[in-house]
Amino acid sequence: MGYNVAIDGPAGAGKSTIAKLVAKEKGYIYVDTGAMYRGLAVYFLDCGMKAEELDKIIEACKTAEVSIAYEKGMQQVYLNGKNITDRLRTEEVGNMASKTSAIPEVRAKLLELQRNLAAKEDVIMDGRDIGTNILPNADVKIYLTASVETRAKRRFDELTEKGISCDYDEIAKDIEDRDCRDMNRDIAPLKQAKDAHLVDSSDMTIEEVVAKIVGYCK
Ligand code: C5P
Repeated sequence: MGYNVAIDGPAGAGKSTIAKLVAKEKGYIYVDTGAMYRGLAVYFLDCGMKAEELDKIIEACKTAEVSIAYEKGMQQVYLNGKNITDRLRTEEVGNMASKTSAIPEVRAKLLELQRNLAAKEDVIMDGRDIGTNILPNADVKIYLTASVETRAKRRFDELTEKGISCDYDEIAKDIEDRDCRDMNRDIAPLKQAKDAHLVDSSDMTIEEVVAKIVGYCK
C-alpha cells in the first residue's frame, strides 16, 4: 500500500494547484480524479448525449475506457487509447462532468482505477469523495475550501489573465450551482470526512496552504 493523502473540496478551492506543489515537495504522484470524470464527459459529449439521457449514458459507460499515464510527471488522460488531456478543461466539459458524476454507473467505472493507483504508489489524490469513500483509510485527509467569492475571484482573474472575457457574477453562479450538485447528490456527496483536517484558503497564500498540508504529512 502506498502512502495516501486525500484532498477533497469544492470546485475552485485550489486543490490541483496545491496538490501538485505538495506532490513535488514530498515526491508523491499527483492524481487528479476530476480529470477522469472529465474524460468520461468528453466521451458523452462526443457521442452527442445530454446529461439527462440516463439510459444512453449508462450504456455508453460500457464502451468508454479511461486510463491514466504520466509524462514528465504530468497526468495524461486517455480515452479509448487516445490522449484527450488538452480537451478536459473547458466549461462545457466541466459542467457535463459535474452532472454525470452523480450517476452511480459513472462513479463505479472510475472507482477501481482510483483505488488501484493509490494501492501501488505514494499519492496525493484530489476529488470530492476521496477521504470519505475512495480511500477511507488514507494516511492524511484534507478538506480544502474557500468562500464562493474568493473562488469566483480567482477563476475570474485566471481567465482574464489568459485574455478570455468573462463575467464575475456568471462565474460565481456557476460555482454555487456546482457546489449544490456536488454536495447534495445521493451518491458520494462532497463533505468533510470526520478525520479530515479543514483548511480554509480564503485568506491564505498558496505557500501557506502548501506548508500547512506538508506539515500534516509524514
Ligand atoms: O475537480 P474538477 O472540477 O475537475 O471535477 C469535475 C467534476 O467531477 C466536479 O464538478 C465533480 O462533480 C466531479 N468529481 C466528482 N468526484 C471526484 C472528482 C470530481 O464527483 N472525485
